[in-house]
Amino acid sequence: MSDSNIQGIWRQRADHLDIRSQAFIDGRFTDALDGRRFDCISPIDGRVVAEVAECAEADVDRAVSSARAAFEDGRWSEQAPAQRKAILLAFAQLVEGHAEELALLETLDMGKPISDSLSVDVPATVRCLRWYAEAADKIYGEVAPTGPQVLATITREPLGVVAVVVPWNFPMIMTAWKIAPALAAGNSVVVKPAEQSPLSALRLAELAVEAGLPAGVLNVVPGFGPVAGRALGLHGDVNGAFFTGSTEVGKLFLQYSAQSNMKRIGLECGGKSAQIILESCSDLDAAASSAASAIFFNQGEMCTAGSRLVVQRGVHDAVMERLLRHAAAYQPGDPLDPATTMGALVDEQHTKRVLSYVDIGRTDGARLAMGGGRDRAESGGCYVQPSIFDGVTNDMRIAREEIFGPVLSVITVDSVDEAVAVANDSDYGLAAALWSDDVNVVHKVARRLKAGMVYVNCYDADDMTVPFGGFKQSGIGRDKSLHALEKYTELKTTWLRLR
Ligand code: NAD
Repeated sequence: MSDSNIQGIWRQRADHLDIRSQAFIDGRFTDALDGRRFDCISPIDGRVVAEVAECAEADVDRAVSSARAAFEDGRWSEQAPAQRKAILLAFAQLVEGHAEELALLETLDMGKPISDSLSVDVPATVRCLRWYAEAADKIYGEVAPTGPQVLATITREPLGVVAVVVPWNFPMIMTAWKIAPALAAGNSVVVKPAEQSPLSALRLAELAVEAGLPAGVLNVVPGFGPVAGRALGLHGDVNGAFFTGSTEVGKLFLQYSAQSNMKRIGLECGGKSAQIILESCSDLDAAASSAASAIFFNQGEMCTAGSRLVVQRGVHDAVMERLLRHAAAYQPGDPLDPATTMGALVDEQHTKRVLSYVDIGRTDGARLAMGGGRDRAESGGCYVQPSIFDGVTNDMRIAREEIFGPVLSVITVDSVDEAVAVANDSDYGLAAALWSDDVNVVHKVARRLKAGMVYVNCYDADDMTVPFGGFKQSGIGRDKSLHALEKYTELKTTWLRLR
């Protein structure tokens, strides 16, 4: 079958998708109480793919009440962990069985290439659900080493009702990273997906109930951040709010907690991650290829985007030559074409914001070495060329602010110390990478980098066993691994006096 036929098949499937567009509360789909809806516009071509329920405070109240009732009567929270495991495994199985539908929803909704949705987003979601399902019946409590007259147990209990507020760059994965550990621990959950990408979360919730998750345990309230997201953050009956998104909104969640019931807050926020390539790196081609993928994969819409490339002067020219070659492999194309490596940005507003940073970089004196413009304008969609600025200094706005698009800043340094200083000179501390063959330098520099995740001679290595999250204004707490379960549980000590 020719490529255009395959592309046509995905388009046809897209045209016949049965899209869930109501809120999901208490195990069923429902309109917003005031009947309001908002247009869900695909950045692929500017078409409206669905009119989605626009939840407001009253809908959030309904969802929280339903979650609370489910939590208190123990229909999930008091099920044996092995039973929770079985249901979550069935859920993962159903997600896997609906891989093509979910991948298509993701691509239509936020513009990423269908090949990425199929090979990255759906499998990662399934892996995450399975991993926490398996963990559910393997978490033990402790007995404290007290004296002989008492027995003190230390156990973990679910928090209760948990709010999950997520962004649009990996809508399903970000949702799974939070709901999987929260559900495995026995919580009830209310999810507020990003207004740009509400579709996959709605379908996930439906599949969860089909797998046997009791009604009310997982609710989804699509709507806008300042209304539905804020209502969750301020809600007096929500025990914890777990957020992934911008640092600016993350700070609001800390305020919401302070203004309401001191609910627990977990934050996975922005980044301005540095990739350092030192003169002691012999495989410059691998480093340059990785640098390109670290900024252009997912259209640069990645919290961990390696958006600052810090290069030691002696290898600058060799790195640039290779970088431009590898970057050329990322050309915006139709996201429904399986051959496409770079899709559309999430929406028009974000596209304009990303392009405004190209103007800012030029004005601040950086040299545009590649791209810098809009692409595929005839499609009606939101496409930006892979763009690289050379001659950037770390005080420029393009080196300090998160652009969240395919724009790379190359900063040249003279020494290892200067590379570390530049990498650490940021409000953020999500990820950092280091390319070098010198094992002494590698160990010393990795220790000095102020980032939650340090990659040595690689980038964006990924496994469910490893915590994910950042230092400084990149967040508070960690997703993934067993550490994530700490966020969704309370620690209880119980003292028993022995006679
Ligand atoms: P955003 O902060 O604008 O929105 C994230 C979520 O918060 C959305 O659901 C949105 O509706 C909601 N929201 C917005 N305003 C709100 C308000 N006033 N009150 C309550 N909720 C509100 O972020 P975005 O543009 O959707 O996503 C991009 C950001 O996400 C980037 O900064 C990126 O770095 C970050 N991100 C971080 C990670 C991580 O794990 N560290 C992962 C992915 C994305």
